[in-house]
Amino acid sequence: MTENLEFIKIKNFIDNEWVEETGVDVVPLYNPSTGEAIGEVPLSSQETSMAAVESSYAAYDAWRKTPIAKRMQYIFNMRQAMIDRTEELAVAIAVDQAKHISEARGEVQRVIEILETASGIPTLIQGETLEGIAGNINGRVIKQPLGVFGGIAPFNFPALVFGWFIPFAIGVGNTFIFKPSTQSPYFMQKMGNIFQDIGLPKGVINIVHGNRSVPETWYEHPKMSGVCLVGSTPTAKKIAEGCGRGGKRSMLLGGAKNFLVVMEDYQKDLFMENYVISCFGSAGQRCLAGSIVAAVPEIYDELVESLIEVSKGIKVGDAMDPDVYMGPVISADAKKKIENYIDIGIEGGSNLVLDGRNPKMPAKNQNGYFVGPTIFTDVTPCRTIAQEEIFGPVAAVMKISGLDDVLQLIHDQKFGNGACIFTQNLYYTERFIAEANVGMVGVNVGIPAPHPYLPFGGIKDSHLGTDKVQGKDGIDFFTQNKIATIRFASPTGQFVGGDGKKAAAEDGKAQAVRSCVAQ
Ligand code: NAD
Repeated sequence: MTENLEFIKIKNFIDNEWVEETGVDVVPLYNPSTGEAIGEVPLSSQETSMAAVESSYAAYDAWRKTPIAKRMQYIFNMRQAMIDRTEELAVAIAVDQAKHISEARGEVQRVIEILETASGIPTLIQGETLEGIAGNINGRVIKQPLGVFGGIAPFNFPALVFGWFIPFAIGVGNTFIFKPSTQSPYFMQKMGNIFQDIGLPKGVINIVHGNRSVPETWYEHPKMSGVCLVGSTPTAKKIAEGCGRGGKRSMLLGGAKNFLVVMEDYQKDLFMENYVISCFGSAGQRCLAGSIVAAVPEIYDELVESLIEVSKGIKVGDAMDPDVYMGPVISADAKKKIENYIDIGIEGGSNLVLDGRNPKMPAKNQNGYFVGPTIFTDVTPCRTIAQEEIFGPVAAVMKISGLDDVLQLIHDQKFGNGACIFTQNLYYTERFIAEANVGMVGVNVGIPAPHPYLPFGGIKDSHLGTDKVQGKDGIDFFTQNKIATIRFASPTGQFVGGDGKKAAAEDGKAQAVRSCVAQ
């Protein structure tokens, strides 16, 4: 299952060609499981970014006029290629992002499901018609693409974020420029090969690697139509400013801090299973990480005991080791930041009952960026570790007095991505769904990532903009409505009146024209 890796030289993908960026700074690419430098990533110039804009702009007209069935064939072919190369793609994710290989396979599978959803675009994109506004007058709403979109990915879901943006954007007829994270660019290098192999027309998808100076060329560029991001909230706010200045459409998914709420009638086995995935999946580096466990007094002590026991049993190690559950975090800096939050938790008076710092590792992983499962109990809501996104395998466990109490805490949080409740009680369930002030709720599951048929996204500081990713929102964000009003005459030039009688034709004509121009 290991790939015989040569030094990975990340290249840009423009006009369906691999283009080596020269004369610019590069940043090393690391394998977080070993701390070894395994490649390098160019910090591409703004000239390259603008060349990608020109390429995607040049491709747009022909692409939007490509019959929709043909565009869907590219989506089908992309899907099939991803199925055929699942293992290669999953290894690419495990190598630089260090998501455990089994989770990396799951991420590729989810993108395949998104491509399946996007293949429904010919149905999803259909507009509306209103017949008979007046005699001989119909109205129509048409969903049309806008032009060139740019997308920016975070390090933690290099494949999924490609899936959230690109199949919907190009499926409806836009072209796209993608900037992966410099920390996990390898997956898109593999995808570029797929775009070439399926014969995607040049410029429909361009990939430019680098830092913030790549998207900075987009915000005010007249040939760009919009920008989307998945990343931290401060980054989302900076991009919102840029898009505001340039008048561009934007969809920006930000950070998170999510509650797992445990009521007295919870099903214990079900909860423990969800807790492990939610809190320690991807080493806690997920926007859907359930990083706060909020439990009622009746079950608090027994729950804490079980959380410690189960978490101690989680095996941490190399992302490619099939016997391991949890891989490392992304970088030495991320490890330091998480450890710093653990110090803040201790200093703030929370109770560190499981300390994951510096777990024991075999020789080859000595320099990897590992933090094991960590649990604080008796955390009070105002503590830094209960308020800020730690983005690591750290659970903050707090006692709540009941449903009203936790709904208020969720309400008061700056983030609003997801929250879930574990209960059998219908009253708790319905109130939680109605009143939890977040974008995605789960009941006895979670924190759940909605299926691609449905939208995905939070509220408050977790999501800037209106449309969310995937589902019908994915269509709405990447299209604009055009409204057509159509007056038509018979071959003899006659109009039919509102009551359908030709005798009233001239009256009908006059009335229809009046009502349609009066606005
Ligand atoms: P980040 O904000 O540091 O970087 C995200 C991307 O933005 C990278 O490609 C980076 O190069 C780019 N970037 C950074 N500063 C920029 C700027 N000023 N202008 C333009 N682009 C800029 O985030 P990260 O550390 O890569 O990812 C982790 C964050 O992403 C977490 O906060 C996590 O919650 C969030 N995230 C959110 C969701 C969601 O669905 N809400 C999903 C996944 C990740």
